[in-house]
Amino acid sequence: MTEHHDECQEAVHAVYRYLDGEVEHTEELRITQHLRRCRGCSDAIDFERTFLLRIRTACPEEPPPALIERIKELLRRADDG
Ligand SMILES: [Zn+2]
Repeated sequence: MTEHHDECQEAVHAVYRYLDGEVEHTEELRITQHLRRCRGCSDAIDFERTFLLRIRTACPEEPPPALIERIKELLRRADDG
């Protein structure tokens, strides 16, 4: 119980470094293994990963609406064959 709690604490504390790939190889392995066993932490990491991904893929320069329309148009045509 106590050990499990410690592992959870470690995983949670290292989550950002883990997602950035900045943890030591041994630590990464330990966390990966823990995530396989622990639903709570694996859910938490999934949430953080999605959140980080959303922040990183949010482009500071929005593509112009005209470009978006053009791409949609091209996709529609591609769909029609
Ligand atoms: Zn855990």
